[in-house]
Amino acid sequence: MAIATINPTTGETVRTFPELSESEIERKVGLAHERWRTYRDTGFDERAEWMRAGADLLEQEADAAARLMTTEMGKTLAAARGEALKCVRGMRYYADNAAEFLADEPLADPAAVGASHALSRYRPLGPVLAVMPWNFPMWQVMRFAAPALMAGNVGLLKHASNVPQCALYLEDVFRRGGFPEGCFQTLLISSGRVEAILRDPRVVAATLTGSEPAGRSVAAICGDEVKHTVLELGGSDPFVVMPSADLDRAAATAVDARVQNNGQSCIAAKRFIVHSDVYDAFTDRFVAGMRALTVGDPFDPATDVGPLATERGRAGVEELVDEAVTRGAKVLCGGRRPPGPGWFYPPTVITGITRDMRIFTEEVFGPVAALFRAADIEEALEIANATAFGLGSNAWTRDEAEQDRFISDLDAGQVFINGKTVSYPDLPFGGVKRSGYGRELSAHGIREFCNLKTVWIG
Ligand code: NAP
Repeated sequence: MAIATINPTTGETVRTFPELSESEIERKVGLAHERWRTYRDTGFDERAEWMRAGADLLEQEADAAARLMTTEMGKTLAAARGEALKCVRGMRYYADNAAEFLADEPLADPAAVGASHALSRYRPLGPVLAVMPWNFPMWQVMRFAAPALMAGNVGLLKHASNVPQCALYLEDVFRRGGFPEGCFQTLLISSGRVEAILRDPRVVAATLTGSEPAGRSVAAICGDEVKHTVLELGGSDPFVVMPSADLDRAAATAVDARVQNNGQSCIAAKRFIVHSDVYDAFTDRFVAGMRALTVGDPFDPATDVGPLATERGRAGVEELVDEAVTRGAKVLCGGRRPPGPGWFYPPTVITGITRDMRIFTEEVFGPVAALFRAADIEEALEIANATAFGLGSNAWTRDEAEQDRFISDLDAGQVFINGKTVSYPDLPFGGVKRSGYGRELSAHGIREFCNLKTVWIG
């Protein structure tokens, strides 16, 4: 895939970038390694000062950063601005909390292990390669970079090939914030060049956010090299609605949860599982809400849903919908691409889905909702868990016993009751099953790329 900014609203190639040569990659990996040898011994206060200065810059430049994101991948300008400010929040969160999260943990009774003192100390690992997706082109990077840099690691970013300007901008923000040269570098390379970097002994670990095949490939190489990985992969999150739910709020949230980021979020609700008693009432509200959305130019403030980010992405969504329809599924709204330029696809609701359809088993990365009816909580849980993924999950009920069932029995890394799944710097984020492993964000996220060193002093 060429490294290029291609505006998904028009299909026009705005700017292309040459890939790094072998010697440029060698120079950057060498610089990361050399930098880490001194950077690892900087103090939390110094790192926090650079991180806060970077956050201030990004806050001041949020409008320009938002325009870059909207141009490169088509999210609405308001959503892009929100993403820039979320990065600012994440940067300040780790600047404020890293020292506490990584403080020494002394053993209360060192005599029990025959020591005068015993403790655990978090030490940084070294240069970490981050392979990142285009859908949240700044936030996905920041939730790796802010904790990794605050922990004393250095970062190498291989961003998705369609968001090179976002990647270069983030490198620039860290540099202008004051981080020494080499602490955070963008590598403009295609995915075929990743393996050699993963196998380089100077690169000690990797994190990948993206699709399952990409995750499998990176994890297999790192497994072969015995290097730590964190994988944040796809999702097909359930959104269960039970009879006691506030249906107006549930339906409005369901619309938002499905079409956020033009339907291209790993934690978008994708499968809506509704109790029979409220199925018709919920469906009427939900379909009306999806129909009412304005699809169009993401720079226009009146737009709710912009284009899909890539032509290939739209073709993938169309294939899943068309296959389901051919096998007998029913389209309640949307389902057909509009004429004209740009990679638009309308908000769509589908029912009558059977388990032999690809739409049942695969992640739909576009504004398409799959709607299911459940007779009771057992059937709702069965459908919700009948997926290879396990990232986020949502359940709507005011019954506390039911809430507890969903919290315990939904197979997912996250359960949101009477709301939609959202990532916050303060809460751990990650999945189970084929959605990946490891955790980002919160105290757990910053500890992923640390050596938890056991210290025993006689
Ligand atoms: P993708 O095709 O897997 O690409 C993600 C990144 O991996 C890109 O930088 C891509 O580079 C690179 N890549 C692709 N194949 C690779 C390989 N074999 N070896 C090494 N690197 C490889 O995914 P995407 O289409 O950009 O993003 C959508 C996917 O990401 C969805 O499945 C979504 O659910 C998931 N996602 C998950 C989370 C989460 O936190 N769990 C968050 C956001 C998105 P190129 O662009 O150069 O191909």
